[in-house]
Amino acid sequence: MKSPYLAESHREAELEQNEDYAALKCPECGDTMLHHVQAEACWRDYEDGPGTVTHSQNGMVNSARVDEEYIPGRRDCLHLTFYCETCHPPPSDETFTLRIEQHKGETRLYWVKP
Ligand SMILES: [Zn+2]
Repeated sequence: MKSPYLAESHREAELEQNEDYAALKCPECGDTMLHHVQAEACWRDYEDGPGTVTHSQNGMVNSARVDEEYIPGRRDCLHLTFYCETCHPPPSDETFTLRIEQHKGETRLYWVKP
């Protein structure tokens, strides 16, 4: 199993800061009405090493061991996929995927395109 998000096409992730929380903004329209549709966790055994990818969507979970080239970046990352209620509501199949990536001691957030 290979992560579909290996492409390195990025867009900056923006948050709307409220008093008690931050709301993620849609990368296309800027609204905060995003709904989760799938999640993927990519865990490396060690930096630049092979690892495990677990994907969850529609009540199903798949997990597989993968070679190092099937995980983006040099460490671990999470991919959360959303649809936007404002600019691409169902039945549109347009979605947006946020990557949360460990890189050089930081946790970075940005949008990626498969
Ligand atoms: Zn939107």
